[in-house]
Amino acid sequence: MADVKQCACGTKLGDRNTSGRCQPCGVAHHNGLLETKAKRASSMKRVWQRPEYRANHSAKMKARCARPEVIERLRQHAKKIGLQRMGVEAMRNPALIAKRSLRGTLTKMAWCPPHLIDDARELRRAGYRLAEIKEIIAERDEAEKEQIRKVMGASHA
Ligand SMILES: [Zn+2]
Repeated sequence: MADVKQCACGTKLGDRNTSGRCQPCGVAHHNGLLETKAKRASSMKRVWQRPEYRANHSAKMKARCARPEVIERLRQHAKKIGLQRMGVEAMRNPALIAKRSLRGTLTKMAWCPPHLIDDARELRRAGYRLAEIKEIIAERDEAEKEQIRKVMGASHA
């Protein structure tokens, strides 16, 4: 008994095993580590910055998704996991709707400091043109920064 190593899932381990985990458990453990996730996310982001990678990837995805057997497989898989129902729920979930709309706003208004988005909207409602709004917001942002610099300067003095 003491001689036979065993994984937590009950799989017997070979004598040379040093991790104490069988292969599937080892992979699952590794995938669950935050460090691994962060590393993968950052390398994914880095790779994704390269235009040729993006073009290549999207061409591959397009070609793959055009194959009938792939479409069928995706359809079956979606059915199995109830993707449509999940999608409908997500569409109706107020928290997700708010999140989506915020993300859309932040993307569309990337030029605007997030805390001034409400100001920008107000200007919009007041009938200002986008170019004018951008200028006003930029001035306001600059004024705020100047104010902060002053306050910080005063506290140092
Ligand atoms: Zn195991």
